[in-house]
Amino acid sequence: MLLFCLPAAYAEPEETAAAESAGSEPVVRVGMYIRTHADTRRLSSILTCGAGFEIGRSDGSGFLPMISVQSKRLVIVPLLDMQIDYADEYAAASLGGGNFGAWSVKNGQYGDYYSARSAGDFAAVTSKGFESRFGTFSTEAEARAHDTGRGISSPSGDCLAIIDADTQKIIMTYEDRTKPLALRGAGGALVSLPMVSFSGSRYIFEYPGFFEFTAKSGLLNMVNCLGLEEYTRCVMANEIGGDFTKETRRAFSILARTFALGKKHDRQGYDVCSRPDCCQCYYGVYRMGEENNEIVDSTRGLVCLYENEPITVLYTGANGGASCSSVAAWGGDEVPYLTSVFLENDEIEESARWETTFTRRELYEHLSRRSSFSVISDMDISMRVLARDPYGSSYITTLSVSDGAGNVVEINNSENVRMATGFSSANFDIEYTQDVEVLTSEGKVETRRITGVLTADGYKPFTGFDESYGSEEYGTVISPDKVTVRGVGSGHGVGFSATGSEKLSLDGYDFRYILGFYFKGTEVARLYQ
Ligand SMILES: [Zn+2]
Repeated sequence: MLLFCLPAAYAEPEETAAAESAGSEPVVRVGMYIRTHADTRRLSSILTCGAGFEIGRSDGSGFLPMISVQSKRLVIVPLLDMQIDYADEYAAASLGGGNFGAWSVKNGQYGDYYSARSAGDFAAVTSKGFESRFGTFSTEAEARAHDTGRGISSPSGDCLAIIDADTQKIIMTYEDRTKPLALRGAGGALVSLPMVSFSGSRYIFEYPGFFEFTAKSGLLNMVNCLGLEEYTRCVMANEIGGDFTKETRRAFSILARTFALGKKHDRQGYDVCSRPDCCQCYYGVYRMGEENNEIVDSTRGLVCLYENEPITVLYTGANGGASCSSVAAWGGDEVPYLTSVFLENDEIEESARWETTFTRRELYEHLSRRSSFSVISDMDISMRVLARDPYGSSYITTLSVSDGAGNVVEINNSENVRMATGFSSANFDIEYTQDVEVLTSEGKVETRRITGVLTADGYKPFTGFDESYGSEEYGTVISPDKVTVRGVGSGHGVGFSATGSEKLSLDGYDFRYILGFYFKGTEVARLYQ
């Protein structure tokens, strides 16, 4: 039987009056990272769409069409001297000394794209209109040699070139800095984009909506713009999958939708990014399935609000029965809906538990190579828990690590503890043990484990046999002393817990109750129909 701390206000949660103030579905702007944060901005992959592409401008949320092209593979690069490998769709372009030159010869202004293109090699789209151009020269001298008196155009790290990767011919240069370049699959077809994960695995994912491209000082920025419902379907497919109950997935769909409204990356010019370690996992339509799509449809437009504002969404796979407060995790002021909530339960599922045993040398090696503990220089390490979550969860908020040379490192806030130690969560206990061989009264040799005592003054180290075990009884020590770190949960542990939600839903609670349970004082409201 499950026991809950039941805030009275959530006994019968209901959709609120705000539900009726329906607006229209917003567009989500997802900042795309195809490799690492830095690389992706510098390099370009090859985008593929079997149906061909539409090229236009973006007004931030809408696609303003300009032309359609038959080309099925495009590479978009800053308008600079580039080496483009048209055979490698993952790493198509690099700067400098290359086979694409960014100098060209001006050939007059035209009223439309097609006239400008047919008068020269390609058209340049500028804020003033369409300019005909000749050549893609690598040097200014080459461009000047071809100048017919209308002048030459120089490279710019703030402009873009669109190149057909099959013909290796330039389609246009985009030099209008008033609006971003936009690209989408013809007829709403998905666009394929190669991606290299942090572990180096290569994928090609397909994306809905349209892409927006800008360049600044030679760095390329790519933003995928799509409806909030479609974005929620994409996130569901890879963040939670299909193994959870429908109520857990309904609750999660509302969180995935609400997350996008938090506009975490507003200052960078998009709402969320595609990195699972920063925002939510966004791999386009990869793994999308009918059942999860129906679940998203069943919560269409529903979001989680606190005092009529979208909440800061935080979720975790498992927290071990009590969520960590935001204050414990990151410090700062209390967030009323991110304090600790308890799901009392005798059986924490085994999958949420983790355990690591170190010899003293291994613990020294593990900690001393981590930057937070670089001052640790002696193997006689003592790890002590000085404080845990003031809101009552067992997440550690102050961890002290000292060594025999007198060096002491104190880590505050549970997320710093997790990052500094490299453990799965900051929700752990430390146990010191030693295996000894014992000669029993019957004359047999047995291995026994003795456990160190962890007190407010630290652990009682095994410098010799503990008197309390009776020294006469013990034989030879056959293994070095060990430290076992025994924890539960993974990640920050703040907010919604997927495994906790499973317990609640299996006990008959619906998604509204589950969200009210994890985010105290919030309400589920419908933003649009
Ligand atoms: Zn992000």
